[in-house]
Amino acid sequence: MAETIAVSIDKNDQAQKPALSGLSLAQLEKCVLDLGLPKFRAKQLHTWIYAKNARSFAEMTDLSKDLREKLEASFRVPLLEIADLEVSRDGTRKYLFKLPDGKLVESVLMRFEDRDTLTACVSSQVGCAVGCTFCATGYLGFKRNLTVQEIVDQVLCIQRESGERVANLVYMGQGEPLLNCDNVVESIKLILNSVGIGARHITVSTSGIVPGINQLAAANLPVTLALSLHAPDRLTREEIVPITKKYSIPAVMQSVRDYINTTRRRVTIEYVLLKGINDSDEQARMLADMVQDLHCNVNLIPFNPTRNNAGEILYARPSIDRQKRFRDIAGRTGKTVTIRLERGTDIDAACGQLHNKYVLGQT
Ligand code: SAH
Ligand code: SF4
Repeated sequence: MAETIAVSIDKNDQAQKPALSGLSLAQLEKCVLDLGLPKFRAKQLHTWIYAKNARSFAEMTDLSKDLREKLEASFRVPLLEIADLEVSRDGTRKYLFKLPDGKLVESVLMRFEDRDTLTACVSSQVGCAVGCTFCATGYLGFKRNLTVQEIVDQVLCIQRESGERVANLVYMGQGEPLLNCDNVVESIKLILNSVGIGARHITVSTSGIVPGINQLAAANLPVTLALSLHAPDRLTREEIVPITKKYSIPAVMQSVRDYINTTRRRVTIEYVLLKGINDSDEQARMLADMVQDLHCNVNLIPFNPTRNNAGEILYARPSIDRQKRFRDIAGRTGKTVTIRLERGTDIDAACGQLHNKYVLGQT
């Protein structure tokens, strides 16, 4: 059984004050100068927020009591509130964060068995406009983009709550990161410089937004790109990833090749396995041909059951035998094709699921 941790939600007037967590050093400098304080105070705040995971000004013991009170009167530290937290048997922690306008997004902290380090999965939007037919977030529809501060504070909140350091970061929570490309690129820069996660430990996952892939390549941040391909043939992909009608498979594959040429990074091809939809031998062969000359790894994701707005579960997960057969055929040209190790399935750790349970009362 999943363990649910009681969390205290801060309901006092603190919530009205501007938050400092998730701001850049330059923004912190502006905040302290506005209060009439010397600029070097920003550096101290930056260290407390980013290196020491401070939750409150009271912890900042190298600042005088007067100064702490002055800061407290104008600002608060965390931006996001933890509205819900579930801890899975495998240690996966799933957070539901409340944004300043009351909207909710999810983040997940996972430990994979083959790694000592922790991986955080963050959201980039509230909801998503792409509307993939197997995705809970798709059924929420698009609400709004997250700000840079809201993206960065997810990582800081996770570190503050868990007391652990996030070493790997994936943009695989709610939303399509490359439809919020400016804020995602800025958040990556801040995470590189202030949180200290290396570009090689950051992955941006996209449903195939061609201008966004090109913009990310031009940003010159050697992060890993993950393409959610999910089908090698046009008809199937148009059905399950509707943005294919706007950005065709050949156009997306060309932008992925350009990304590889610009960044020299190996990309990840993601493929959710849906029984009877995209798991045939022929589709596995087509996938093998598509990725043969691509500098990539392929990740097969067994479908995590989600409901549409009518409460129906539209798809099923193929049997383990079918998953393995698909993997073997897709890998016949020597590419590394893996079936993703699942984390936190007992707590609905798939994209959009906790949000739906909370808001729509679905189970
Ligand atoms: N919008 C981006 C990133 C967020 S989704 C994208 O689509 O890539 C992160 C990954 O989770 C994507 O590969 C997505 O297809 C996958 N996903 C969404 N719903 C899922 C489900 N129900 N089961 C398994 N994987 C799912
Ligand atoms: Fe949006 Fe990604 Fe979900 Fe598709 S899979 S609806 S792009 S969040």
